[in-house]
Amino acid sequence: MDINVNKFFDRQLKLKNFSERQLDQLLSSKVLFIGMGGLGNPAAVYLLSVGIGRLTFADFDKVEFHNLHRQFLFKDDDIGNSKAVTAANSLQPNYPHAAINVLDSRMDERQLFEQVKDHDLVMDCSDNFETRYIVNDVCIEANIPLVSGSASEEVGQVISFQNSAASPCYECLFPRKQFLGEESCDRLGIMTPVLGVIGSMMALTAVNLLLNPQTSISTLTKIDSGTMKITQSTLQKDTYCEACSI
Ligand SMILES: [Zn+2]
Repeated sequence: MDINVNKFFDRQLKLKNFSERQLDQLLSSKVLFIGMGGLGNPAAVYLLSVGIGRLTFADFDKVEFHNLHRQFLFKDDDIGNSKAVTAANSLQPNYPHAAINVLDSRMDERQLFEQVKDHDLVMDCSDNFETRYIVNDVCIEANIPLVSGSASEEVGQVISFQNSAASPCYECLFPRKQFLGEESCDRLGIMTPVLGVIGSMMALTAVNLLLNPQTSISTLTKIDSGTMKITQSTLQKDTYCEACSI
């Protein structure tokens, strides 16, 4: 469907600090999603709504009944179907400016690398440390910026990595020897609205990384929904990091 993109994004273009040139930049950006569950759902909606023009949804999971209360792109009829395909089919009609591709089978590290290097930014919306370490390794190798989100119990966090030679990586913060095998929200549960907050913050972080790569710094932003306290810290590179400093 052809649309007039300037009319479609009229309210965003009315912003004092947002230009047609920046919209063009977002329209030509390619973002890869790893995981289309609780974080992938809101993050994808907001990246499409801000004007990202090319998205790839990678997820080999199928929709399950216990997903439905928080993964709002899926309906009862979708149970048993691919999350990536269902999310794309659900979103595409509302965002005709965008091309959404789908990867719904399991990828090995080499296949993931081929995908990552074909994108401008990766959104890690996965729910386990094993996947996060693989995504981190591949993004470092491909020099592609990474936005990592996670949420468990009442707490959520968003981390941005430029993945330049001097910047820290996911493993600088969470060494795999210490964290591999930690439990995810499957076991610990999740305060559902935290997913919306973190997914939206991931989308904003991605926009900043795409539009202002030179001024972006690696930060960790954490929200505790029990106290509504938000904390932010600037990340430092671990010069002994086994992922990025060898
Ligand atoms: Zn590192």
